[in-house]
Amino acid sequence: MTPAILNHNLARQTLHTGPAEATRPGTWRRVIAWLGTFTGLSVTALGTVAALILAALHGVTWLDLGLLAGMYVVSGVGITLGFHRLFTHRSFQTYRPVRFLLGVTGSMAFQGTLFEWVGRHRLHHKHSDKEGDPHSPHPHGPTFRSVLRAFWHSHLGWAFPPNPPELVRYAGDLRRERMLRIVNALFPLWAVLGLLIPAVIGYAFAGWYGALTGFLWGGLVRVFLLHHVTAAVNSLCHLWGSRPYPVGDQSRNNPLIGVLALGEGWHNNHHAFPSSARHGLKWWQLDVSYYLLRVLTFFRLAWKVRLPSEPELKARAAGVGPMRP
Ligand SMILES: [Zn+2]
Ligand SMILES: [Zn+2]
Repeated sequence: MTPAILNHNLARQTLHTGPAEATRPGTWRRVIAWLGTFTGLSVTALGTVAALILAALHGVTWLDLGLLAGMYVVSGVGITLGFHRLFTHRSFQTYRPVRFLLGVTGSMAFQGTLFEWVGRHRLHHKHSDKEGDPHSPHPHGPTFRSVLRAFWHSHLGWAFPPNPPELVRYAGDLRRERMLRIVNALFPLWAVLGLLIPAVIGYAFAGWYGALTGFLWGGLVRVFLLHHVTAAVNSLCHLWGSRPYPVGDQSRNNPLIGVLALGEGWHNNHHAFPSSARHGLKWWQLDVSYYLLRVLTFFRLAWKVRLPSEPELKARAAGVGPMRP
């Protein structure tokens, strides 16, 4: 999972049978996609620098930190529980208004549209660390330069080219649902709302200066942090960490990203049990997204939560049994 900032034009080419056969996009599409991603990454980075300079000059308020934390969790859970566990892997079921809300809050993370995100992540699971994986950090050459290039590609570099045409096909089930087509089409609106909401709250409590710092901390800084934390699941969590389950790829459990990415850093667990709603499979593996799902189930707002059974856990640890879809 990672950002495709402002790069939300789904390809319209005829679909083929696999990534290797995808047609090469035209020059203009490549230029527009590159500029969109470059602009998104630059603006959030510059906004973070501006927020730090203002904080050094005038201090930072609890309101700003609260907006950063609040918006980080709201849009982060939209990605982890919504885009990832609900829409990509169908690991639980919930009511339409909850699906709508998770689709909207996930869009506020500026990581591309719902259909793009889901399509790309399903491709990642299908071809993990092999030809066709949209963002594997494993190089094709032995040199230090090729290692660095592969890391950059897995972290953010993959977001610069246009979307591969097959993404459309990989989110076909979601495209059949009218409500999700609306959520997907209005991605720019939700993304901008994610910047305006903290600015409006900042204005309500602290006037125009509060609007500015609310926009910076709850908007640009939050998107900047979430981009890199989400990107780290694709880069760091396929490089460093433990591998309790032999799953045939390089996915790892990384405790730091496990905490920062609201549970998504237990990535080897996730590759072993992709449809499990719980990624932190041990009691000590912090998984904030799953705890929130438990709250939803307590209030009967979610059901059919999919979890691996004890025999399945044992079998996968021993390298036995197919990976569940
Ligand atoms: Zn992965
Ligand atoms: Zn996944």
